[in-house]
Amino acid sequence: MSEIDKNTQPLLEITGLKKHYPIEAGIAKKQVGLVKAVDDVTLSIRRNEVLGVVGESGCGKTTLGRTILRIIEPTEGSIKFHFDGKEIDFISLDKKALRGMRRHIQMIFQNPYTSLNPRMTIFDIVAEPMRLAGDYTEDEISDRVRDLIGKVGLEVKHLNRYPHAFSGGQRQRIGIARALALGPRFVVADEAVSALDVSIQAQILNLLQELKEEYDLTYMFIAHNLSVVEHISDRVCVMYLGRVAELSETEELFYHPMHPYTEALLSAIPVADPTVKNERIVMPGEVGNAANLPSGCCFHPRCRYAQECCRKECPPLREAAPGHFVACHFADSLKLNGIGELKIKN
Ligand code: SF4
Repeated sequence: MSEIDKNTQPLLEITGLKKHYPIEAGIAKKQVGLVKAVDDVTLSIRRNEVLGVVGESGCGKTTLGRTILRIIEPTEGSIKFHFDGKEIDFISLDKKALRGMRRHIQMIFQNPYTSLNPRMTIFDIVAEPMRLAGDYTEDEISDRVRDLIGKVGLEVKHLNRYPHAFSGGQRQRIGIARALALGPRFVVADEAVSALDVSIQAQILNLLQELKEEYDLTYMFIAHNLSVVEHISDRVCVMYLGRVAELSETEELFYHPMHPYTEALLSAIPVADPTVKNERIVMPGEVGNAANLPSGCCFHPRCRYAQECCRKECPPLREAAPGHFVACHFADSLKLNGIGELKIKN
């Protein structure tokens, strides 16, 4: 069964998306292997939804976000956007059409210290996408920059300053204003709060939420931390070694995880209640090697529930409960601990 909700036309449909990098060796550069950074990902994102994408470093989430925007060209698969009743086959767009689409799809980058040009004023940083688009007058650009800078919580008096004069949180606000300059519909936020202090993270998450309502935005929100994703996401997609391990509504995922990897990630979230005994599940080893995927279920070397068949057969992503997709042979029989359950028990 397809993951796509038939009653709500999604903004974005991704089918069988792959990004493989060849490994070459020798003078003849003979291909000796493949790094499967994104491997057969199928999912959809609804209009005005926030889809959180989580997993440890190296699980393919950033490559997925960049491949969806064609910052990195995919190896295989289909990406379709639905705007104004039209279906846009994003993979087949030529360079000119792709430039036209860029106004609708934007990215907020992880590091606010390196993503802003230190030689440009804040005004020019936010104005640059509109100048490059070429269809705004300088008066229109000036009005829009002033409006956006206020919407992200900065002041017009800041516009003539340079990035070094701002804190990390303020720089991320500037990055957000720039990402919204052309009025996008879909925004990939790649670890947008990871480099910030916890108190600032909450402010930026609230800002993203407010801007989503104001501008009718749809987000893919990439993070390595489930607790960050919880606050902003309607649904969460957990990735492991380039594949989707689990995908469901946020509350369902936190209360009733069905994949052992999700359970382990949840166990690492500190619980505020000191009376709750939250057993941290320590997964042995690191994320596997995408150039040499384990046989069968690629999570089996780290899974405490692994059985013989897990080493031989790769579990497909399937709908184990309504709207809850999981890639595990034993998803129906394992009774996994969710963080919500721990709070309720006490
Ligand atoms: Fe663990 Fe087996 Fe499920 Fe993979 S299929 S997550 S190894 S129990």
